[in-house]
Amino acid sequence: MVTPKIDPAKIRLYRCMGAKCAPKPGVLGFSFHTTTMDPAPKCPKCARTPNSPKPIYRMVLVHFDAPVDPDEHEHTNVRACDPSQEITSKRRKDGEPDTWQGGTGCISAVSCPACKETQAFKDAVEAAKL
Ligand SMILES: [Zn+2]
Ligand SMILES: [Zn+2]
Repeated sequence: MVTPKIDPAKIRLYRCMGAKCAPKPGVLGFSFHTTTMDPAPKCPKCARTPNSPKPIYRMVLVHFDAPVDPDEHEHTNVRACDPSQEITSKRRKDGEPDTWQGGTGCISAVSCPACKETQAFKDAVEAAKL
């Protein structure tokens, strides 16, 4: 398994709804993440913040729960980006509550950039193409 380049514990996911920030016409919003637990995040395109009149919104980080046996719908029940964390955990490693964490075995619903870097996720994407 490839070690993620990003520290998963520090990832925060946001979406800017600025029309000019969407990657292409017809796409609602622009998603981006910070990796430093920055207390003052801003859209890298338009510089909106959570306190702007039209703010950016924080979103739940959805981790990948890798399949063990897809035919039996068995999954690892841990985060692909950090197997020491249960997929359903709402706490950080230091025990602090963190309700911004979720998990799924559905590759299209995964939003965690660190999970997307894992071989388990890449394998699942390849398998879905077959
Ligand atoms: Zn923006
Ligand atoms: Zn993850």
